Formats: sequence, C-alpha cells, structure tokens
Amino acid sequence: MKSNESTASAAAPAASTAPAKVEKTEEQWRKELTPEQYRVLREAGTERAFGAAYDEFKKQGAGTYVCGGCGAELFSSKEKFDSHCGWPSFYDPANAKNVITREDNSLGGKRTEVLCAQCNGHLGHVFTGEGFATPTDKRFCINGVSLKFVPAGAAKKP
Ligand code: FE
Repeated sequence: MKSNESTASAAAPAASTAPAKVEKTEEQWRKELTPEQYRVLREAGTERAFGAAYDEFKKQGAGTYVCGGCGAELFSSKEKFDSHCGWPSFYDPANAKNVITREDNSLGGKRTEVLCAQCNGHLGHVFTGEGFATPTDKRFCINGVSLKFVPAGAAKKP
C-alpha cells in the first residue's frame, strides 16, 4: 500500500548559491589592480590583441581561471579553446553563477558583455554562432589581464 506521508523535507530549499558581492571604492581598486587591470576590469577597456597576457594564456596548462579583481572562479582550462582571435577564449564558464552577461550597445554594435558576478568587473564579451567546433558554439572572448591562472594542484586559498 502506498502511504500518503508528506515528503516535504525532501523539498527543503537549497542554500543560496548567489555569490557574495565584492564592493570596493574606485580608490581601493586603483590600489589593488595594475593600471591595465583597472582599465579593463573597472572601465570596460580591452587589452591589445595578441598581447603579453594572451601569450601567457597559450602556455598555461590545466587549471582554473579566477577573477583578477576578486578571485571568484570563472573559467577553467577544460573549456579553453584556440579561436586564434588574440584573446583568451572559452566556450563556457567553469562556474556559471560567477559569470554574468549584459547587453552592450557601445561602439555602435550589439554585443554581449561578460562580467564577474561577484565584483562586477568587466571580463570581455561573448559571441554565439560563429561556427567553432565546440560544444556550445560560444566564444567567451576574455581579456587576459582580467583573469588570474591557478594551476591545477595549487593550494586553494580560503
Ligand atoms: Fe570579480
């Protein structure tokens, strides 16, 4: 016989997974970031294509890419691919809840801006439907200076 017992306990709400917000004054950001990081992360600038950060990116092996501003986990080497565009490219975020997007109508075109959900830092843009042979057909085109690489196996800081 089937019991009609309530199973409400199974539907207990999950703990909130929304990332904690990191808010700092512009002065604090200027102190903590390099001028180039500040220009990109806080002023939505774009680093030069095929720059030093991109050269580094190409050499990096397995690991995690965290936000250069606040350390939130954003991307991983598993979703990295070579798009030949001159900026670090990923087909998906490693930690989707830490990556947000919004419409960007600057420069007269419609683009989708990618930001860190935790500190609201500008990371780059995401383009869809370009025909790359990746599982998502998306290219998260990310400024290398917005990211910090944590090699696999490196001790995680609390
Ligand atoms: Fe961040």
